[in-house]
Amino acid sequence: MDGGTVTATFLGTGTSVGVPVIGCSCPVCTSSHPGNQRTRSSLHLQTPGGSVLVDSGPDLRQQALREGLREIDAILYTHCHLDHIAGFDELRAFCWHRKDPLPLHAGPETMATLERMFPWAMSNTSRNYVRPDPHLIEDAFTIKDLLVTPIPVTHPSVETFGFRFDFPTGHSLAYISDVKEIPLPSIALLQDLDVFVVDALRPQPHPTHMNVEESLAVISQLKPRRSFLTHLAHEIDYREAADQLGLPESVALACDGLKLTFERQHPCTIA
Ligand SMILES: [Zn+2]
Ligand SMILES: [Zn+2]
Ligand SMILES: [Zn+2]
Repeated sequence: MDGGTVTATFLGTGTSVGVPVIGCSCPVCTSSHPGNQRTRSSLHLQTPGGSVLVDSGPDLRQQALREGLREIDAILYTHCHLDHIAGFDELRAFCWHRKDPLPLHAGPETMATLERMFPWAMSNTSRNYVRPDPHLIEDAFTIKDLLVTPIPVTHPSVETFGFRFDFPTGHSLAYISDVKEIPLPSIALLQDLDVFVVDALRPQPHPTHMNVEESLAVISQLKPRRSFLTHLAHEIDYREAADQLGLPESVALACDGLKLTFERQHPCTIA
């Protein structure tokens, strides 16, 4: 990794059932376009100092193999829905590569769910198994050279966080994969973003996720430099999205494997 580069990789961009949906013969589910192949939502960040995973969904093994992901320095959890935690056991392979336990950051409700679902792991000291070092999410914290600000959001009916990442390159990216509403104090934490990644499940309204219209409304309020829609269902066809959904030029659909790179600018660079 270059000394001044950060890479954000979309490991998965699909909703909870993934796309294609089992048994569905709609035009999106039968499409072979890579933009219509969506594993469960997850993000990986590689900074000059570290490697951070957001969520461990049921597709984590495939995602890590596909992206050649070998080591992580920490895992962050957005919330405890199964499409974000069901791949917990795959963290074993990352723990094998580490001397110390794996820092695991989660809110109190998600931590309690992980402890209930994986009680053996939480007190594990064996190098052979998932060996977490649990940290409850409260205020902003750092992982190596990455500043992480938790963004509390409303995603009925579980405690849910997005994250704002401030990179050592001077850039910022916020990731909110599951959200119905962003409370005002959280809106204040999302100002002046280079990249905003946000839930936009489908065109139709949904009780626990933003639809495309709601996401675009938040984007026009926040005015990030660039935005990507994620946690997408099979109602969204990658091939026709820009036209059909009326996406502004600064907004695109995320897709699995998409990488965003951020480079530190030389201090003499003229903007
Ligand atoms: Zn989800
Ligand atoms: Zn379908
Ligand atoms: Zn969820």
